[in-house]
Parts: sequence; structure tokens; C-alpha cells
Amino acid sequence: MIAVVFWFIGMFIFFFILYNVIQHALNTSEMAKDLSEIKQLLREQAASRPTPPPPAPMDLTDIREAYDRCPGCGHAVQAHHPVCPECGLRLT
Ligand SMILES: [Zn+2]
Repeated sequence: MIAVVFWFIGMFIFFFILYNVIQHALNTSEMAKDLSEIKQLLREQAASRPTPPPPAPMDLTDIREAYDRCPGCGHAVQAHHPVCPECGLRLT
């Protein structure tokens, strides 16, 4: 019975040491150095890039001019048409 307890404690210590050795090897490896350099570069780029302004709300006339074709049926419509002459969809 006592041997099982010692075995568990021994395994715990063994895996604890193994975990720390692997962590240390990863942290000091060449790849980790490269990754931290890449992260630093990306952070600098993100900090120096200006944030784009939010899109201005579209005016209703802009929306109307954007519709060369009826969004419902695809029929060609002109900007002064309040409704689609083909299907009657409201364009305003
Ligand atoms: Zn239409």
C-alpha cells in the first residue's frame, strides 16, 4: 500500500520535472525567439496603423442613385422613379 503512494508521488515529481524541462526548452528555443519578434512587429504595425473612420451614413438620394436596376426584378429603373415600373417595388 505504501509503495503505491510512493509510486504516485514519484510519478508526479517525474512529470513535473519533465514538464518544466520541456517548457524551458520551448521558451529558449530559436523558434520562440522568432515568434516573439513576429509578435512584436505585428504589435508595432497595429499601433502605427490609423483606425479607419466609420462609414458615413448614406443619404437617401445616394441610395436611389445606386439603384440602376430594380433590386427586386432587375428591371432598369431611372433615379426619378419612386416605384419600379415593372414590379411596383418601392425604390425610396
Ligand atoms: Zn422591379
